[in-house]
Amino acid sequence: MFLAKIIYMGAIAYLDTSIFNCPQCNTVYAEASWYAVVLAADIECGNCHSTFNPSEYLTDRIMVEFHLDDMGKVKEIKKVG
Ligand SMILES: [Zn+2]
Repeated sequence: MFLAKIIYMGAIAYLDTSIFNCPQCNTVYAEASWYAVVLAADIECGNCHSTFNPSEYLTDRIMVEFHLDDMGKVKEIKKVG
């Protein structure tokens, strides 16, 4: 019997992340950019429940690296660049 084993040692996963704030109460959020910017869908603020489009209130957009151990668990997070 052959068991496939995935080797994660040294693997890095990436997440394009958008930072924005609610225009009504200024609560800040970090969200995946594919959701916050690419889809351009309105979201509801978890604090004041107003609805807005995050792409209009971006303060930053960064790439985040997740450095994984040999079991695929995150051991370190870094900002790219
Ligand atoms: Zn709000």
